[in-house]
Amino acid sequence: MGKPTGFKEFKRKTESYREVSVRIKDYGEIFTGTHDIDSLKNQGARCMDCGVPFCQSDNGCPVNNLIPEWNHLVYTDRWQAALNRLHKTNNFPEFTGRVCPAPCEGSCVLGITNPAVTIKNIENAIVDKGFAEGWIRAQSPEHRTGKKVAVIGSGPAGMAAAAQLNKAGHSVTVYERADRIGGLLMYGIPNMKLGKDVVQRRVDLLKEEGVTFITSADVGGSGSDAVDVKTLRDENDAILFTTGATKARDLEIPGRELNGVHFAMDFLTANTRSLLDSDLNDGNFISAKGKDVIVIGGGDTGTDCIGTSLRHGCKSMVNFELLPQSPVERAEDNPWPLWPLIHRVDYGHEESADRFGRDPREYQILTKEFIDDGSGNVSGVRIVEVQWAKVDGQWAMEEIEGTEKVWDADLVLLSMGFLGPEHYVSDALNIDYDARSNYQAEHGKYATNIEGVYAAGDCRRGQSLVVWGINEGREAAREIDRFLMGDTLLP
Ligand SMILES: Cc1cc2nc3c(=O)[nH]c(=O)nc-3n(C[C@H](O)[C@H](O)[C@H](O)COP(=O)(O)OP(=O)(O)OC[C@H]3O[C@@H](n4cnc5c(N)ncnc54)[C@H](O)[C@@H]3O)c2cc1C
Ligand code: SF4
Repeated sequence: MGKPTGFKEFKRKTESYREVSVRIKDYGEIFTGTHDIDSLKNQGARCMDCGVPFCQSDNGCPVNNLIPEWNHLVYTDRWQAALNRLHKTNNFPEFTGRVCPAPCEGSCVLGITNPAVTIKNIENAIVDKGFAEGWIRAQSPEHRTGKKVAVIGSGPAGMAAAAQLNKAGHSVTVYERADRIGGLLMYGIPNMKLGKDVVQRRVDLLKEEGVTFITSADVGGSGSDAVDVKTLRDENDAILFTTGATKARDLEIPGRELNGVHFAMDFLTANTRSLLDSDLNDGNFISAKGKDVIVIGGGDTGTDCIGTSLRHGCKSMVNFELLPQSPVERAEDNPWPLWPLIHRVDYGHEESADRFGRDPREYQILTKEFIDDGSGNVSGVRIVEVQWAKVDGQWAMEEIEGTEKVWDADLVLLSMGFLGPEHYVSDALNIDYDARSNYQAEHGKYATNIEGVYAAGDCRRGQSLVVWGINEGREAAREIDRFLMGDTLLP
């Protein structure tokens, strides 16, 4: 274990982000880019190496990272060994170390009585050191099996599956309809949370290891970049869908068609592409500059819309949430080791508070109508406040009379979640979908109803997290390897 008395001696100390007033002026990562090694060693020393490490169990880390082991290795200054241990379970710790909400920390045993170990910071420091020291290099397989696998979609699930299948010696081609590889790691999560050089660095390593990536390849599409899905099935020994949950939930209320009302993903994707292509000089993005911005819906996507709008120089920022504010402490029905459903202040909320003097979130707000300025542009949003009560054991929402109000807005961003994968890619194969329109395939098995066709990540489980994408991609690779070879050594 770390240090037997470490958890008594050292307090939890997380790494701070860059100063709000500085970082808000650029699109660089919110992280400082440096790690205080001595401080992190003390944090590693706080790990109690408890008998049952819930942090690496199913309630904690979805890829079952061997957390107490690398905490101990960091405490004893054996960083390269810590990196090797980390890579055993996680292909891309540089992604999770930056963007994972760290369910591991919510189930850390120390967290029952004290603030949890700073697991995510330690993970990030290990992998950053690994790259800085040159310890992370391409490792191509020694033998090729002669089997071919097509992976459709290049997000964390597709990339993790490709990495594992390639490691097993199969020839892997990843088809991506976007012009860059990475899925939501590239065009979703903004640069502030995950630098695109960090994503590209891993893509380049995978290429060097032998994975083939084909961009602008719209599988099942009908345009000039279309790739026929049946041909892919015929030409490969197996195919894996990792196409994400890309259907955004809409808000079909009066005024939805007005100029200035956009899906969050249209806003975020265009911004990142323009930033990467031209440093925002080509003008191919939706600008929030000088605008009253309302973001409808929270979560990571809502926060990222806030952070991006602030960097554009918006005039004001409001974020509507339908639900009440979460409690500051765990509620009684949300005990350890479950993920703590508590009030959190993310980077965008902090930045908005710094810029405008208040947290942008307004709770228990139902949006009723987008107001027309008379020329087809949105000029405001009509809302009503709501209250929630349990009726027959189910939460029910009720409008509060007399609370209707119009908020000024000339840019509205819809961030209300996603409704599963688009089906045009797979319909030709007659794949079964589940009740939520995701691919029907059991977690742990990933096989669809069509032999040799697998599905993993958000297109199978619904909108989720990067770390779950990595988990499913790795496990789907294991099942495909078993299908192709009769047995598998992949974890
Ligand atoms: C704005 C935003 C912020 C987020 N922030 C976080 C965060 O901070 N932390 C976190 O853990 N998670 C976050 N998430 C969730 C996380 O990004 C996803 O859960 C994860 O990326 C899912 O991985 P995936 O590989 O299943 O799918 P995706 O990353 O969605 O990748 C799917 C890929 O498939 C491609 N594709 C789809 N159809 C086709 C086709 N027909 N042909 C070829 N390619 C196709 C898509 O273009 C896409 O590149 C965020 C999500 C969003 C939208
Ligand atoms: S991947 Fe996420 S859950 Fe797992 S150890 Fe890292 S921060 Fe924790």
